[in-house]
Amino acid sequence: MSDVFEIAQSQIDKVAKQLNLDPGLHAIIREPKKVIEVNFPVRMDDGSVQVFKGFRGQHNNAVGPYKGGIRFHQDVTYEEVKALSTWMSIKCSVTGIPYGGGKGGIKVDPRKLSEGELERMSRAFIKAIANDIGDAIDIPAPDVNTNPKIMGWMLDEYEAIKNRSEPGVLTGKPISLGGSLGRTAATGRGVDITTREACKKLGIDMDKATVAIQGYGNVGSYAGMIIQDMGCNVTAVIDVYGGAYNPDGMCAYELDAFVKENGTVKGFPGSKDITNEDLFALDVDILIPAALENVITKDNAGDIKAKIISEAANGPTTPEADDILFENGVHVIPDVLANAGGVTVSYMEWIQNNYGLYWTEEEVNERLEELMVKAYSDGYEMAEKHKVDMRTGVYLNSINKIALALKDRGWATK
Ligand code: NAD
Repeated sequence: MSDVFEIAQSQIDKVAKQLNLDPGLHAIIREPKKVIEVNFPVRMDDGSVQVFKGFRGQHNNAVGPYKGGIRFHQDVTYEEVKALSTWMSIKCSVTGIPYGGGKGGIKVDPRKLSEGELERMSRAFIKAIANDIGDAIDIPAPDVNTNPKIMGWMLDEYEAIKNRSEPGVLTGKPISLGGSLGRTAATGRGVDITTREACKKLGIDMDKATVAIQGYGNVGSYAGMIIQDMGCNVTAVIDVYGGAYNPDGMCAYELDAFVKENGTVKGFPGSKDITNEDLFALDVDILIPAALENVITKDNAGDIKAKIISEAANGPTTPEADDILFENGVHVIPDVLANAGGVTVSYMEWIQNNYGLYWTEEEVNERLEELMVKAYSDGYEMAEKHKVDMRTGVYLNSINKIALALKDRGWATK
């Protein structure tokens, strides 16, 4: 099974069966409520007009407004957006924040655009979906190849169209526009908090643990730096251009500075290049996939020697691979839990915007710590209780919460 939406649906079906879920509620949860497809023109630097395709998937808003990132990537598809918005509904319920799932994207290789073209495209996309988003409707945020700067352009465009101030319509904004302290590092921090909790359960000493990371962008780099602060040794990293491997370890902060200067981890002083295939098979304690989906499959799952896989990326493991990993005793912290830190601090940003009252970074990190530790422990307990893997345990909790909200809205059949 490689279609991402089929994977998301199969995960829901598995859990619905285990919960003996009401058929009406199951039918609602397995489909997104709305998927918007827009084709919008952008004036290019050479005077030509290019039409871009964008999507916004809105999975479920039973517990609150839709919430989720916008990615710029050449492989973005309608099906992918449906899957990612479904996972966002699950993810928001994992830490118990009052949001449903949304996700958007533009089919584009942003590396081929100038800065001006990127800005005009970002603004044009928001113009195309302006009536489908809002701080009480659907709240986008950064994802692959999007960042606070792009959120700033999008907020500016949205507020100009609506003729009002509405900072809570987007999260992951620059601090000057109402962004939250701690948001940029939040996803990586959340990955590491759950990894630390898993290490405690498995009796792994973080001071002796080694880590391999696929993807050294926003999430991967913070995951690397914070896990190093927790005591671990980062021995391998890779990005789209190449890898860096050093069995003695590499400084995650120096790697981050190297990427900022050179655009890649490849060529990091003292390291050897490494392929994705080799990185996944490395003898490390912790493996953090922080790039794209479907990278751990039935073909490479059996080679994985890591004791913990912390899914920083969305959907990195196929269901067939999941079964192999479970049989091999690998502790997989599922994406909807491991990377929920970003959306959790996005929620804090939205609260701060709505109140016009801003918290210190320490306050944000403390609240994140509390919510992530509880989410990990709830998922672990559920998995133990039902003798299932962590993903199923976490899904059981989340689907229960969404189903209850739908039931209380009157949608159960019995
Ligand atoms: P990013 O664009 O900042 O970084 C992506 C990284 O992956 C880059 O280093 C890129 O070079 C690397 N990469 C891409 N293709 C690769 C390949 N084939 N092989 C190896 N490396 C490759 O994106 P990000 O924001 O760090 O997001 C990474 C993942 O985390 C995505 O799956 C995203 O959906 C998920 N995520 C992000 C956030 C967030 O707050 N940014 C929150 C939750 C989940």
